[in-house]
Amino acid sequence: MIGIAVLGATGSIGASTLEVIKRHGARFRPVALTANRHVERLFEQCIEFRPEYAVMKDEDSAQQLRDRLIQVGVEVEVLSGVDGLKRVAVLPQVDYVMAAIVGAAGLEPALAAAGAGKRVLLANKEALVMSGRIFMDTIRESGAELLPVDSEHNAIYQCMPLDAGEGLAGTGVSRILLTASGGPFRTTPLEEFGDITPEQACSHPNWVMGRKISVDSATMMNKGLEVIEACWLFDAEPEQIQVVLHPQSVIHSMVQYTDGSVLAQLGNPDMRTPIAHALAWPERIDSGVQPLDLFAVARLDFEAPDFSRFPCLRLAYEAIQAGGTCPAILNAANEIAVQAFLERRLGFSAIPEIIEATLGQVSSSPAESLAMVLRDDAAAREQAMQLIKRKEGQSRA
Ligand code: NAD
Ligand code: MG
Repeated sequence: MIGIAVLGATGSIGASTLEVIKRHGARFRPVALTANRHVERLFEQCIEFRPEYAVMKDEDSAQQLRDRLIQVGVEVEVLSGVDGLKRVAVLPQVDYVMAAIVGAAGLEPALAAAGAGKRVLLANKEALVMSGRIFMDTIRESGAELLPVDSEHNAIYQCMPLDAGEGLAGTGVSRILLTASGGPFRTTPLEEFGDITPEQACSHPNWVMGRKISVDSATMMNKGLEVIEACWLFDAEPEQIQVVLHPQSVIHSMVQYTDGSVLAQLGNPDMRTPIAHALAWPERIDSGVQPLDLFAVARLDFEAPDFSRFPCLRLAYEAIQAGGTCPAILNAANEIAVQAFLERRLGFSAIPEIIEATLGQVSSSPAESLAMVLRDDAAAREQAMQLIKRKEGQSRA
């Protein structure tokens, strides 16, 4: 039996992971499940999956979960905080770690899993954006396996030659074609962007996801973060990654070869496919996803991305080109701006403004250590918060 720790079990990816695991109960065993503060949801998952460990973000929620489990006589060791997350990520009985916590909070536990030589199923793209070099070096040094779960990167992984991994040079790959749906506002008139609400931004045309990544998809920062993620995963230069708008979300990405071949991975937009792929690789297992009906899809459209409509995409390319901790600063400012937008303290169009201003004001460093990354991440959060407060003050005045 393969032991699995599902970090972020109560989220969208976490729940889909547990669905796939449930189909293969003789093969996979959930050893640890973790959540932020959603006690009731993790309680239900503990009853259903009987893990050895559960982790909550803070001790208060952990105690509530302990009490609930004692009431029903179910034995689970409940831990809390980042230390608890790191502890379950490196347990000897854990073979695979699903890294599906959203945002920077997922970095340290994912890095711990990488350092312990686990198979890391990486959904938490923010970890690679913040500390790509450190993360990839840790994977190499420990002999860990890294399987991308982000649907595009999973698709690229499937289309890559088997000997890739030491850089694109010499593999015959000329370009990565990273597809993007364009989100809910691909054709919305620009003058309406100021009035976009969190509800509108969170209703994605093709995917059901957590709120933060839904807003990222609407601003296309999600694609920007994915460009950076792809640079690290496939050792590619930013210029080798072409974003392709593809509104149907049926082709999940493509790899172009020097001989003119383009390989694509297609499927219904359902995260259980990349999750099942990463869980079973190199085998294939049933994921529960409906087979693709090409006659129902009928057509596949492609467009070039519009950088003026989606400035976040430009900012992400600029950040990875500038290097060092610039992507970490971009990511931190984005997390703060998205949170403020979801709390209705910031307009939709102001999200890229806050990120750009933060990048202009926080000085970056070489990203040589985790401490450097976390320091610049904290400085960027502070700066972004101040910029938002100033903006709020101005709009009240
Ligand atoms: P979500 O908001 O639905 O779930 C996030 C999970 O992380 C929850 O279990 C939550 O309890 C936990 N969490 C949140 N903050 C935490 C904290 N501070 N400490 C500990 N745990 C915390 O998000 P999601 O949509 O499942 O996305 C998870 C990650 O996967 C993100 O990085 C996202 O970019 C990536 N991803 C998601 C999808 C998707 O379809 N949902 C696709 C590709 C990549
Ligand atoms: Mg994606």
